[in-house]
Amino acid sequence: MVDETRQAVRPAIASEESLMRIFTVPEAPGSTLAKIEQEISSNLAGFLNENIAAVEKPLHEIEKDFQAANIPEEPRFVSEHAQELMEKLVAHSVHTSAPSFIGHMTSALPHFVLPLSKLMVGLNQNLVKIETSKAFTPLERQVLGMMHHMVYGKDDAFYRKWMHNAKNALGAFCSGGTVANISALWVARNKLLKPDGDFNGINSDGLVAAMMHYGYKGLAILVSERGHYSLGKAADVLGIGRSNIVSIETDHNNRVDVAKMREKANELAGKGIKVMAIVGVAGTTETGNIDPLNEMADLADEINCHFHIDAAWGGATMLSNNARRLLAGCERADSITIDAHKQMYVPMGAGIVLFKEPDTVNVVEHHAEYILRKGSKDLGSHTLEGSRPGMAMLVHACLSIIGRKGYEMLIDKSLEKARYFAELIKQTDDFELVTEPELCLLTYRYVPEKIKEVLKTADEQTKLDIYAALNRFTASMQKRQREAGRSFVSRTRLTPYQYDNLPTVVFRVVLANPLTSKQILHDILAEQRELAGKDPIFKKYLAKYL
Ligand SMILES: *Cc1c(COP(=O)(O)O)cnc(C)c1O
Repeated sequence: MVDETRQAVRPAIASEESLMRIFTVPEAPGSTLAKIEQEISSNLAGFLNENIAAVEKPLHEIEKDFQAANIPEEPRFVSEHAQELMEKLVAHSVHTSAPSFIGHMTSALPHFVLPLSKLMVGLNQNLVKIETSKAFTPLERQVLGMMHHMVYGKDDAFYRKWMHNAKNALGAFCSGGTVANISALWVARNKLLKPDGDFNGINSDGLVAAMMHYGYKGLAILVSERGHYSLGKAADVLGIGRSNIVSIETDHNNRVDVAKMREKANELAGKGIKVMAIVGVAGTTETGNIDPLNEMADLADEINCHFHIDAAWGGATMLSNNARRLLAGCERADSITIDAHKQMYVPMGAGIVLFKEPDTVNVVEHHAEYILRKGSKDLGSHTLEGSRPGMAMLVHACLSIIGRKGYEMLIDKSLEKARYFAELIKQTDDFELVTEPELCLLTYRYVPEKIKEVLKTADEQTKLDIYAALNRFTASMQKRQREAGRSFVSRTRLTPYQYDNLPTVVFRVVLANPLTSKQILHDILAEQRELAGKDPIFKKYLAKYL
């Protein structure tokens, strides 16, 4: 892109007045940035296809473009900067919205979020306090109300009473699932270690005093072994300790074994360790399975602890009346995490935590003199984060424009596509479905038929050798597919029961992009088959078994 107009400042050699122009004068039509803006507005997909390099550049090469530690001394033309961005940044970005990019939880975005994001940035509201977000705060509270209603389905009177109530909140917006999980467990911790007699509560007196007052030897959080790593971070910042996130075995379908969880809770109680919360996963990150939420709710009642559900990825499934039965029991959770930036087609930075009871957040309330005054409706008085953008506006737009029925269609289609892909894999001789899709996530691997045969009769050592080789081969193939740049699946390591619980590297696909066609799924298998034939690891370690 060549810039003819150079409608920009050159304050280094010009005046203060010319510097002011960056705040007041937009880029002239025809300038590099104006052209970029126009292209992404009229055809984002085309822009990305055209400007993201097809062939991957190694990371250490990219790093060379981002070496200088000194802040640029001299101002420069916007166009020069934009041109450089195109070459150094855009060209080597990851094409996360490509329909063949089915490895992660990011997806294509509806077109309208682009201009709306611009509007959001332009308004630059700060949701920490009403003074800087007068209309955005009620909007955010409404979105929390809508999401709360989706999960808990209370009646109109409930929402009339609580949605805009200064003393309470139905949940909190935050940057993502990690902060949502931390917020939920923060609330759970403070609720447990609440003020009592001369003890002023953990938020005032701290953890040591709290433990002494209540006579606990430790706190624990129980979650399935498939729990997300953000829970470890939460335990760390909340002073509970990572090792006190107790992982509980899962069944053959990667769902937590609630009987084992109960046993563990009793065992801990015997040692004076209080279970602060149990966490159900609704849509595990690696396999997409959903814990038995009703059974977990029963257990939480039984042992009197907080029940949190991490539905960061899977929560959006509730928008489909056909699929929401998969999350039956979610309405019994004390708190639930849902990421709008995963299956709700909102750009990143949109995490949500919801609380069943509107007064739950009171245990984490903070006040200050100049903002967040007592009685104010400032959202910042109970959010972990301070200054926050108006992302709720984008969630609100998606909910309004796509509507529940629109989401239902998108979600049902994703689930159907995942089942289709699973069938496709099962029908081949050389791929193996490792985990069935409960939602739109599945895992599989490539094992040539001959090797499947050998495995059937192999002695223990040969079997272990082949498994190890298959793991290296799968990892190698995944990397080479990514580098080839046509498509992307991710990989993870599981311990599937059907492979004697041996560590098994698998391909992982998430089929939430509405633009991913069935043909693309066929193409991906074909490409993998082709890569397999040429794989150096395969030749070295596995070819001998053929
Ligand atoms: C993605 C995810 C998270 C973390 O969310 P971020 O938005 O990445 O912070 C937590 N739990 C589960 C189950 C997830 O899928």
